[in-house]
Formats: sequence, C-alpha cells, structure tokens
Amino acid sequence: MNATPDFRFDGRVAIVTGAGRGLGRAHALLLAERGAKVVVNDLGGTKEGDGSDSGPANDVVQEITAAGGVAVADTNNVGTEAGCHALVEGAVGAFGRIDIVVNNAGISRFATFPEADAENLERTLDVHLRGTWHTTRAAWPYMVEQGYGRVITTTSTGMFGLADNLAYATAKGALIGFTRSLAVEAASHGILVNCIAPNAITRPSTAAGKPNITTRQLDEARIQAMQTGLVSPMVAYLAHEDCKVNGEILVAGAHRFARWLLAVTPGYRSPGAEVPTVEEIAEHWDEINDESGYYVPANLHDWASTFMAHLNA
Ligand code: NAD
Repeated sequence: MNATPDFRFDGRVAIVTGAGRGLGRAHALLLAERGAKVVVNDLGGTKEGDGSDSGPANDVVQEITAAGGVAVADTNNVGTEAGCHALVEGAVGAFGRIDIVVNNAGISRFATFPEADAENLERTLDVHLRGTWHTTRAAWPYMVEQGYGRVITTTSTGMFGLADNLAYATAKGALIGFTRSLAVEAASHGILVNCIAPNAITRPSTAAGKPNITTRQLDEARIQAMQTGLVSPMVAYLAHEDCKVNGEILVAGAHRFARWLLAVTPGYRSPGAEVPTVEEIAEHWDEINDESGYYVPANLHDWASTFMAHLNA
C-alpha cells in the first residue's frame, strides 16, 4: 500500500504557459488529472516563435475535458506584457483565483556569436524571461491576497554551457536569479517559487540538423525514457500545497529527479594584509577550484553570514 496520500489539486487553479505542446501539455494533463482547473495557454507558433495557431491550446483542453477534467484555452502571447496580464485576468475571470503558475512557454532560435543578434536576444528574452516575469507579476497580487501560491519557472541544463543557442542560455540563466530572489520575497506570503530543468524529447530537441538529442540517435527504449510526462511529476510536486521547497532548481527527465546546486568552493584565503598578487592567484588556482567542502548558500542572506565570518576571521 502507498503510504503517501494522493497529491490532489481539487479547488486549485493552475495556469500553464506553452501548454499546447511538449512539456507544458504534459504538466497541464497531470495537474488536471489530479483535480486542478487548468488554463492551457499557448500561442501556437513555430519553435522559433513565429506565427500563431489556436489549435494546440484547444486540442489540450479537449483532451482534458474528454478525460473528465476542467480546463480553458488561452492563446495570449506571453512574450508581451499585455498578453501576460490578459492571460492572468482571463484565468481569474474563468475560475475566480490563481494558485499555481507554471511558466513553461519557450522558443528556441539557434544562433551563436556573432550571428545571435539583438532581435534574437530580445525575442528569446521576451518569451522566456519577460514572459515569466510579467505572468508571475500579474498573478502575484492574487496569490498575496489569498496568502498562497506556487510558482514554477523553467530553466535548462543548457545553462551548463550551450554555444549554439546563446540567447536561450542567457534567458535561462536569468530565470535562475529570478527564481531564487523571488523565493526570498515570496516565503512570507505563503508562496513558493521553484525552478525546473527538464529533459525530454520535444520539438526543439528534434530540430533537424541541430546538435541536439534527435530521435535518429536514440533507440525506442531511450525515446520512451525521454517522454515529457516523465518530467511532470516533479512540476506537480512543486505545485502542491504539501511541498515546502522554496528557491530550488530541480532537474527532471528520463526517470531521474535531482537537485541542481549553486555552490561555492571553500577557496583560497590570502594570508597577508597586502593586496594579493596576480601570481598568487595563479599559484593557488587548484585550491581556488577544489570542490571538496563546497558550500551551498540558501540565499544572499545566508551567503552574507558566511562572508562576514570570513571577513572577521
Ligand atoms: P515545445 O516547443 O514543444 O513547447 C513550447 C510551447 O510554448 C509551444 O507549444 C509554443 O507554442 C509555446 N509558446 C512559445 N512561445 C509562446 C508565447 N510567446 N506565448 C505562449 N505560448 C508560447 O518545447 P518544450 O521542449 O516543451 O519546452 C517547454 C519549456 O521547457 C521551454 O521553456 C523550454 O525552454 C524548456 N526546456 C525544455 C527542454 C527539453 O528537453 N525539452 C530542456 C530544457 C528546457
């Protein structure tokens, strides 16, 4: 017998952006299956973010309602502030509240330097970073008023270093700063903010000619192990009222769930009162980089307390 009671979302309202396809669809289906009323947002454009199509959002709503769930479609563009506000107001209009915001919508405009131009950067930031910012900000007053909320942002392991999609990695990096900082602000309001780093086969990862995971490189078993639904249980956990995690980044995909740490090595402490020389840095490079005994700051306040201890030593 399962000792953990079912994680249900009855009475909860969730917005999932970019839920017409890929990971967002899987998140929306799981939340709806568990009783949440879901706003299925999707602009329905290409993976580069061009065009629009109401089909994907409507299809997912049909899928949810056919399975006995409750959902409405929303085709607002989260790449604009007005679109994010309209999405949130539409959700409140449809269901009267907002408990969960899953910021998932994303585009991928492959380009490295210097081909990645201002348009590439701005369009990528618009959807990933500003979309998350404005949607969360529009939902915030509702969550603060009810003293409850769950916000999930979506980063990427591309953050580890992704040369051919520079604007994307830049936006995903910014989302980590957003998540961790908003989490500090959120806690006193009963709101938790966490970040997911998914791995699954979807449109962007099947882009022809791109150095990504493609279906051509994987056998059937591995393709099955990279289905979007294998990410969603972590998203649903982070979205649940029993979850107490805040400001964390979780990696999910292919049956693995892991914590992504932001850590600092103990480092090298220059002994004298003099300004350390450049040569001293070179001489102690191994010590600076030694990962043993690394420290994982919970937030800046936590970091500052260890910094003060270092300063006073
Ligand atoms: P996807 O292209 O299959 O789905 C993204 C959805 O977002 C699409 O349906 C698209 O129409 C929608 N969308 C795009 N721009 C929008 C906008 N302005 N307004 C509303 N909807 C919009 O891609 P996916 O792989 O499912 O990606 C989902 C998220 O996960 C993205 O943020 C992506 O960067 C992230 N991610 C995915 C992977 C992976 O392995 N698939 C890895 C790391 C991060």
